[in-house]
Amino acid sequence: MTDYVFPPASQAAVAVRGSSHLFPVRRIFCVGRNYAAHAREMGSDPSREPPFYFNKAPAHLAASGSTVAYALGTHNLHYEMELVVAIGQRALRVTPEQAAACVWGYACGLDMTRRDLQNGAKQAGRPWDFGKDFENAAVISPLVPVSEVGLLGQGRIELSVNGELKQQGDVSDMIWSVPEVIANLSAYYHLQPGDLIYTGTPEGVGPVQPGDVITGQIERVGEIALTMGPSL
Ligand code: MN
Repeated sequence: MTDYVFPPASQAAVAVRGSSHLFPVRRIFCVGRNYAAHAREMGSDPSREPPFYFNKAPAHLAASGSTVAYALGTHNLHYEMELVVAIGQRALRVTPEQAAACVWGYACGLDMTRRDLQNGAKQAGRPWDFGKDFENAAVISPLVPVSEVGLLGQGRIELSVNGELKQQGDVSDMIWSVPEVIANLSAYYHLQPGDLIYTGTPEGVGPVQPGDVITGQIERVGEIALTMGPSL
C-alpha cells in the first residue's frame, strides 16, 4: 500500500454510451486550426503545414450534461465544437493506414477557450495554456466504440447556442484527417490507450454568457450539451 500524504484524485474517465464501462483518460491532445474556414476566421492562412498541438489536463474534463461556472479570469469564453478520438492501442511512428487500428472510439467534444487570454498569449509569443487549459475546459460526451459505428471519415458536425445554429461543417473538411493526426502525433509521443485527441473545430466559434445552453451533434457519434452557470 502506497502511503500518499493525501488521498489521490480519482482516475479521470469518460462514459461509454450504452455501457456501464468507463474509458480511463491518460492524456488530452488538441489539434489547432484543423479546418480551413476556422483558420481564416482566426486570422491565419490555412495550409498543409504540419499540424500543431496543445494539451489539456484530464482533471479539466467535464461530462456532457453538466452545468459549469463561467470560467475564471476571462470576459470572452468561447465554444469550439470538435470530434474527439479515443486511442485504444499503443502507437509509435505509425502510418495513417496503421493508425485506424488505434482508434477505440469517438465522442463529441467542446474545446472551451478563454479567447481573450489565448489572443493575449499569441500576441506576446507565450504558450496557449492559460487560454485553453482550465477547469471544465474539456467537455466530452459519452464515447461510442468504433466497433459499433465504424471508422468515421465524414459526418455532419454542428453546434447551437440557445437553439441558434452557430457552427456547421463536416469532419471530412479537416485539413489533417484523424488517421493523419494520429500518425503525426505518434512521431512525437508514444500514444497509449486512454489518450484523447480533440481534432479541431469548424468555423463559427463565438462567445457564451452565463445562462447559455450549448448543444452540439456529430452524425453517428452523438450529442453534447453544456449549460453555462453564473460567474464565481
Ligand atoms: Mn479547438
